[in-house]
Amino acid sequence: MEKILIFGHKNPDTDSICSSLVMADLEKKVRGDDAIKACRLGEINEETKYALNYFKVEAPELIENVEEGQPVILVDHNEFNQSVNGIEKAKIDTVIDHHRIDNFKTTEPVFYYAQPVGCTSTLLFELYTLNNITIEPKIAGLMLSAIISDTLLLKSPTTTIKDEKTLEQLAQIANVDIETYGLDMLKAGTNLDKYTEEELINLDAKRLDKDGMSYIIAQVNTVSIPDVLKRKEKLEEVINQKIKSENLSLFVFAITDIVNSNSEAIVLGNRTDLVGKTYKINNNIAVMPGVVSRKKQILPLIEKNL
Ligand code: MG
Ligand code: MG
Ligand code: MG
Repeated sequence: MEKILIFGHKNPDTDSICSSLVMADLEKKVRGDDAIKACRLGEINEETKYALNYFKVEAPELIENVEEGQPVILVDHNEFNQSVNGIEKAKIDTVIDHHRIDNFKTTEPVFYYAQPVGCTSTLLFELYTLNNITIEPKIAGLMLSAIISDTLLLKSPTTTIKDEKTLEQLAQIANVDIETYGLDMLKAGTNLDKYTEEELINLDAKRLDKDGMSYIIAQVNTVSIPDVLKRKEKLEEVINQKIKSENLSLFVFAITDIVNSNSEAIVLGNRTDLVGKTYKINNNIAVMPGVVSRKKQILPLIEKNL
């Protein structure tokens, strides 16, 4: 039997990495075979590294292309432009996701499980319960790391009651203090000094395509926005290069203060008006008080202004 490969999205975040590992564990237990493999579509970021080290779990294998007919499971995304190369001709078996559905289609029936919750792992927790499968402590650790990451310790507006309740139960299984562990993990992800500007703008970047227009919303977490903005000039240079090489109409580089739950964004391209209609842009910077979520705050605002 052909191995089923599990993929999170490109420029993987903690949810994409942890949920693919968790899904592999679940599928092995449900389908009762070893024909499942967790994969990743890019480098592991510092925050995710912290979580994997803490719970002593190996990172998924880097696999960036699939052959025609390859059975795959997608977690934490569905849009083909965020997925593995060759996805158009792969056989999509299952999708577990918490994003809008777009740029997606299959030729065969598919198991599609989605809810507007804060994290893919919240849905995986439900699937363990539904299948009556016990969650091991380290698997609980991966799931709670993903929830803490996606909801910024339950502070993001994407957070639902379900995420909160799930996180509580997982913390008991994994035996960790949510606040202490969570802040340590998030802070590990704010160590941005080691990245070049090119790496920074790709670290957590999502490309969106709408009506023939392409744009990217990238996001980094920090404990000091001014610290990141010290590199503004060089960041603008690499963003402008990216706009040119990928023919983008807009690039939003959101710098999110995880302690105070605010963002400032470097906004460039010929459609900066899509942000500018809502937030005043000064010297290429939009100050966005209370904004922490790309999915619930930045993306809808751009689409609304389109
Ligand atoms: Mg994600
Ligand atoms: Mg997610
Ligand atoms: Mg994210």
